[in-house]
Amino acid sequence: QVPLKPGRSLMDWIRLTKSGKDLTGLKGRLVEVTEDELAKHNKKEDCWICIRGFVYNVTPYMEYHPGGEDELMKAAGTDGTDLFDQVHRWVNYESMLKECLVGRMAVKPIAAPKEVSSTLSEEKKQLNGMLPEKKILGASAKDLTPSYDWFQTDSLITVVIYTKQKDMNAELVIVDCQDKQLRGEIIVDDHSYLVEVDLDHAVQEDVSVNIAEKVGKVDITLKKKDNIHWKMLGQPLESHNTFIKRTDRGLFYRKCKLVSKMEVTHDTKLLCLMLPKSTHLRVPTGQHVYLKQIIAGTEVVKPYTPVLPFLLLDFKQPSHHDGAHIYLMIKIYSCGLFTQALDHLQIGDYISVSNPEGKFKKSQVQTSEDLFLLAAGTGFTPMVKLLNFALTEVRCLRAVKLIFFNKTEDDILWRNQLEQLALKDERFEVQFVLSQPTKDWMGKQGKISSSLLSEFVKRSRKDSKVLICICGPTPFTEQGVQYLKDLGYSQEEIHAFTA
Ligand code: FAD
Ligand code: NAD
Repeated sequence: QVPLKPGRSLMDWIRLTKSGKDLTGLKGRLVEVTEDELAKHNKKEDCWICIRGFVYNVTPYMEYHPGGEDELMKAAGTDGTDLFDQVHRWVNYESMLKECLVGRMAVKPIAAPKEVSSTLSEEKKQLNGMLPEKKILGASAKDLTPSYDWFQTDSLITVVIYTKQKDMNAELVIVDCQDKQLRGEIIVDDHSYLVEVDLDHAVQEDVSVNIAEKVGKVDITLKKKDNIHWKMLGQPLESHNTFIKRTDRGLFYRKCKLVSKMEVTHDTKLLCLMLPKSTHLRVPTGQHVYLKQIIAGTEVVKPYTPVLPFLLLDFKQPSHHDGAHIYLMIKIYSCGLFTQALDHLQIGDYISVSNPEGKFKKSQVQTSEDLFLLAAGTGFTPMVKLLNFALTEVRCLRAVKLIFFNKTEDDILWRNQLEQLALKDERFEVQFVLSQPTKDWMGKQGKISSSLLSEFVKRSRKDSKVLICICGPTPFTEQGVQYLKDLGYSQEEIHAFTA
């Protein structure tokens, strides 16, 4: 992210797009763009970019791009799909840039310059939807491709997915059923298999999912609305029965109801969202979801990392910790576009929540003896599930230490719970570091530094297996990773949470 000039915020951009100004310079016409034509528009003052076969004139957007003009210029006059997907495929550019749409590519667009392997780029283009769609699985991939079948009784429809994976679990299965449309996604490493059909007849709201973990079989059971015989499961939808890279699958959203809002600190709230009865979704430890809201007529999307309702799970309190609810700990910024709109949601209102994403793998912790967590501000959120998982499920862990950076004492999230956890579990230790303390603060002060880390991050024994997780504002995370590397920790021993 780069600092934007005054008057160049997302809200200012939304206002400009609504002003009726001709942002493409084409007076409302849509044109077919050839590769040669696209390549000509490669300057800051005249910049066109192709994303998924559509060409946008991003010249007026330059100063509003949160990543800066130079980032945008990397794709000037070319197909920026891959670059876009690497950096922020979750951003709804169709909505954000709709007033900048120049038209479609006339023929297949040129590949981004960095791409060298022709087979790879052909494959990518097909997945990006630029070339006619066809199955692009090699022989070996086909053997691994899940398959599905279905059967019925008088009252039920069961869709069975054979995942061909032995270690299936509830986090790898995402099912939604809305308006007769059934969508069942199975995650297999970095690939995704999808069953997506417009059902033959109506079904009831609740859907049940049963996973036979050892044999990798997933049963999705739907209740018929009317006890009639179905001739077929339904009409296949566009991505039905496809097995593609996860990153090439668009984000899917369902509307969740806001059921409670609790204060955590003066500016941070714990929101509880209820998934629809027809959704099966578990957000894995270390992963985030995207929330989507329409703000001033434009779809705005931001990532958030689900937490637990509280840290000490055996400290029983009435809560909805049952998989049907998602808890989000969100800092409301006084001038924040998205968080201000979130704060205005009332109990009972709905908000769109995406499928989970993220690179963190639990197996990284499962083999560690020492776990160090470096969190700053709301960078604490991924640490919540991680702490719970580490202390309840990882036997080989000898020490778990959290170093938590905040501006002031009032900003510390769940301080009381963290202190209680440290008393309860002797493997766990927490240290708070304040960058803007009052003069009575007796604890550590300052920001992340090499000396602080060398004091805090120490192996419990020579050669012990270490994992260090870090999350916070980008400069915090970048500096932290650099200091850790300078202290001799390897890339494999460090996990940085980013979008
Ligand atoms: P904007 O309108 O974008 O910014 C308005 C002002 O708010 C800025 O000028 C700045 O002063 C301040 N501000 C905004 N964003 C940041 C920032 N990222 N860092 C420092 N100051 C900022 N946030 C949570 O509260 N809880 C989470 O669980 C969470 N999870 C995240 C997971 C990922 C993977 C990532 C990348 C971010 C996460 N965030 C989380 C941050 C969140 O996505 C938004 O950036 C944040 O809510 C601000 O959005 P906004 O539209 O209100 O602010
Ligand atoms: P904040 O502004 O309250 O700062 C908290 C602490 O971070 C400060 O006390 C300081 O120690 C440190 N810090 C802040 N700016 C720094 C800088 N420039 N250099 C070094 N250290 C710095 O933090 P916040 O408003 O709660 O922001 C939390 C951040 O965490 C946001 O940027 C958010 O996007 C990010 N986040 C990321 C994820 C993820 O998974 N990637 C998840 C949650 C939050």
